[in-house]
Amino acid sequence: MIGLEPGTTVADALRRVTARLAAAGCVSAEAEARWLLEEVLELPAGGLAARRGEPLPPPAAGALEAMVERRAGGEPLQYVIGWAPFGSLRIEVGEGVFVPRPETELVADRAARHLRAAAGPATAVDLCTGSGAIACFLREAVPDARLLATEVDRAALAWARRNLGDRDVELLEGDLDEPLPEELHGRIDVLVANVPYVPSGQIPLLPHDVRVHEPPVALDGGAEGLDVFARVVERAGRWLAPGGWLVCEIGDDQGDAATALLDKAGFEEIAVMPDLTGRIRMVEGRWPR
Ligand code: GLN
Repeated sequence: MIGLEPGTTVADALRRVTARLAAAGCVSAEAEARWLLEEVLELPAGGLAARRGEPLPPPAAGALEAMVERRAGGEPLQYVIGWAPFGSLRIEVGEGVFVPRPETELVADRAARHLRAAAGPATAVDLCTGSGAIACFLREAVPDARLLATEVDRAALAWARRNLGDRDVELLEGDLDEPLPEELHGRIDVLVANVPYVPSGQIPLLPHDVRVHEPPVALDGGAEGLDVFARVVERAGRWLAPGGWLVCEIGDDQGDAATALLDKAGFEEIAVMPDLTGRIRMVEGRWPR
C-alpha cells in the first residue's frame, strides 16, 4: 500500500502512484498513474492538470490504493480500470477477455469502410469477437448494416454480450464461422477478424500481465501463429459475396505468409497495411466478383 494520508494532493498522489508502479515494473508508470487518477476522479483524459493542487477526496484515495495494488500485482491496467478505449467507445473488460488494443481500431475502421462501400443492405461478420469491440465499432460506424459476431470462448462471450448490450448485433457462440446460418453462404460483404496470431513459442515472451491474465485462446496462433488465420482464409470464400472483403489483423512479420495464404485461396486485391507506428498490422483481400 502506498498509504495516501488525508489531504494528499492530486499532484502528490500522482508522484507516489507513479513511483509505486515504476517499482513494480510498469514501463509507462506515469501514464498509467494518470489514467488511474483520472478514473477515480472521474475526469476526462488530460483532466488532471487543473486539479493538481486539490486534496484527493477520501473515497477516491481508497479506490486508488486498491487499484494501484492490483496493477502492481500484475493485472492488466484495463482490467483494473474496468474498460478499454476503442475508437470513441468504452469497452468493458476484465478477467477472461482479451483487451482491445488501439491498433485494432485500424482493422475495424478498414472493415467499416468496405462495409459502407458495399451495395445495398450490407452484412458483416466479426469472427472471434472477444470483448465485442470490433462489432460495437461497426455498429456505430455503419448503422444500417446487418451485423453478426461469433465467439468460441464462454468467458469472452459474456463480455461481448455485456458490451453489445442492446446494440443490434447477432452474437453467436461457436468456433469461427461454425455458428453462422447457412443462408449467409455467398452473402457476407465483410468478414473481419482479430484471430489469435502469436506463435506458440512466443507466448512465454509476452509481458507478464498479458501472459498471466489474458486468455491464451485469444493469443496463441499455433507454431507460426497463422493456424487460425489459415482456417479463416480457407473458409471465407464460402461465405463472402462476390466482391466481398476479408480483413484480418496479423503480426508484424506475418505479411508475406498471410498474403501467400490469401493468394492461394483465390483472393484478389490483396494488401498488407501498417499501423500508426509503421508496423505491419493488417491484411485484406477481396473475393472475386
Ligand atoms: N496484439 C496482441 C499482442 O501482441 C496479439 C493479438 C492477437 O493475437 N490477436 O498482445
